[in-house]
Amino acid sequence: MLKQINGLHHVTSLASSAQENNSFFTKTLGLRRVKKTVNFDAPDVYHLYYGDAAGAPGTVMTYFPFPHAARGRAGTGEVGTTAFSVPRGALPYWQDRLDTFNVAGLTRSERLGEARLAFKGPDGDGFALVETEDSRPPWAAEVPEDVAIRGFHSADMRLSPRDAQASAELLRFMGYSREDTTDNVTRFRIEGGNDAQVIDITEVDAAPAAQGAGSVHHIAFSVDDRAAQQEVRRALLDTGYHVTPVIDRDYFWAIYFRTPGGVLFEVATNEPGFDRDEDLAHLGEALKLPRQHEHLRDKLEQLLEPITD
Ligand code: ZN
Repeated sequence: MLKQINGLHHVTSLASSAQENNSFFTKTLGLRRVKKTVNFDAPDVYHLYYGDAAGAPGTVMTYFPFPHAARGRAGTGEVGTTAFSVPRGALPYWQDRLDTFNVAGLTRSERLGEARLAFKGPDGDGFALVETEDSRPPWAAEVPEDVAIRGFHSADMRLSPRDAQASAELLRFMGYSREDTTDNVTRFRIEGGNDAQVIDITEVDAAPAAQGAGSVHHIAFSVDDRAAQQEVRRALLDTGYHVTPVIDRDYFWAIYFRTPGGVLFEVATNEPGFDRDEDLAHLGEALKLPRQHEHLRDKLEQLLEPITD
């Protein structure tokens, strides 16, 4: 069993409009945009990052907005819900706030002793806010500090029963322990993790998901540094997983592999972080390009939809 993984690092999803996506995360949910860059593998598309003040690992929701992309179809083999943590007693505030912003799909429930408020993102993205103890300091520009989002609570993988078994084994290998089960949901947690240390597996008999706007593209797990990442990579390769080489994403180093259920997992380093190329006070304001795409700047600034804050 691996000991290097701290919990979630970031979650990356697909969107259909950069402006709508930016407004939803910075205004409606009150996160900070911590980076405005492009998809390093397809630089004519933005890569937008939202999180806490510094974009700490375990708080960062990221998007590839493809203009006018068709919506995805929910199903198995994907992360169906990304959950953020909020302080105990915060959900009535959020229910009012999200209602005022005309957010769809507001549904209160309880799971494993925690109150949840489910809601949909602009492209039908599955989200929830979960009331829990969480000492992380929030970014509190739009939302009062006592109720603001602290970071990720968990990601919920929707899997067929067979894939659920195999994915549970993978999570245990990665350092997660089964904590509890309720109905068709099994909860896994990394003890001593980074506060974003929960993964839920929801077993459903359904058709496979089709990826599109509103779908999660991949979830990334945090390791401290490149040495820890190499240890994880070696262990996954030895277990038979097809793992990519280490890729430099400027703000972290990344490796990717697919779970038995088809969900794309990444393992990302906490180093060097989002302040490596801009001042913390102005994080996320300017369009930052990786060195290999800097020569495209004029073209990309023409091509990319402007985002007004
Ligand atoms: Zn990623």
